[in-house]
Amino acid sequence: MDREALSERLLRFSDIRAASGAEKAMRRELRRMLADKVELRTDALGNLIARQPAEGRPRLRVMVDAHMDEVSLMVVGHAADGTLLIGGVGGFDARLLPGLSVVVGEGEAALPGVIGIKPIHLADDWKSATPMRRLRVDIGAGKKDEAQRLAPLGTRIYFPTRSERMGARLTGKAFDDRVGCTILATLLLEGPWPVELYGLFSAQEEVGARGAQVAAQTLQPDVAFVLEGTIADDLPREEERSPTTIVGRGPALSIFDRRAATPAPLLRFAIEVAEAGGIPFQLKRPQASGTNASRIHSAGIGIPTLTISMPSRYIHSPVALVDPDDLLHTYRLMASILRVITPAVVQP
Ligand SMILES: [Zn+2]
Repeated sequence: MDREALSERLLRFSDIRAASGAEKAMRRELRRMLADKVELRTDALGNLIARQPAEGRPRLRVMVDAHMDEVSLMVVGHAADGTLLIGGVGGFDARLLPGLSVVVGEGEAALPGVIGIKPIHLADDWKSATPMRRLRVDIGAGKKDEAQRLAPLGTRIYFPTRSERMGARLTGKAFDDRVGCTILATLLLEGPWPVELYGLFSAQEEVGARGAQVAAQTLQPDVAFVLEGTIADDLPREEERSPTTIVGRGPALSIFDRRAATPAPLLRFAIEVAEAGGIPFQLKRPQASGTNASRIHSAGIGIPTLTISMPSRYIHSPVALVDPDDLLHTYRLMASILRVITPAVVQP
């Protein structure tokens, strides 16, 4: 597997519009890619679950998770003047929203819109951010009933960003977590592996890891890996504090985040695999953020779980940035893990 093929796949995935609870377009793309290769099913929460039998006798039942949903906005009301009231689906900084172009809805029915902003000639208070509840999306509708018809309650609103290459790096709107989807889809296409592999393309991560919880309870794998796009706050800073992760330094292994602790033998094993394969890696700064591991590791009788993340700058904004080398190294690490993992690794 080469870096170019992974990059192309990521750029394509990132342009797909699939918000929490509205992941259909991602499911459709993944089904198109994977239907000939693995068994696929969609569950009640919208997770797409792939099963790939082992090559030979399976050593373990391994689940690899990547979430399909991206952060978005949602229509939560209609104003008398025909503008849309909005709320966040997933974590947003409302300061970055005023003045942005947006896309309202998915597929054929999607409409262009703009998040309204007061002209600078009239603005008297630029010091404080406008809270989300006071922002409005203008879709050019003149009246409330027209806006209701064009963009009903619950319609998701997206950034119109098109992915592109920027120097040696890649930019796009939804690298969290289309980087994970890219790696997982590629693993399934390149399989089978010496383990029975469950590829979980999960729904609704950004609103509380809901899809992964249900899938982990149902599948009860021996071990799970969560592939994520994570924070890279690696730009110059004034205070003395380690960055969470650094772009270009390889996949980040989680030790202990806000909601899950990686079992020591599993973490040690992943580090040994990376070192043996000459794959660069980094440790994610402890106690930063949380992932689907929060719900997976505590499902049923408990599932040993490791999160492997790709550093993404400007995450949860209209444009994130990743390094394609990190993508390649994460793929190589995950593939090597599947090749050599044994039941001993997941013994307590
Ligand atoms: Zn994520």
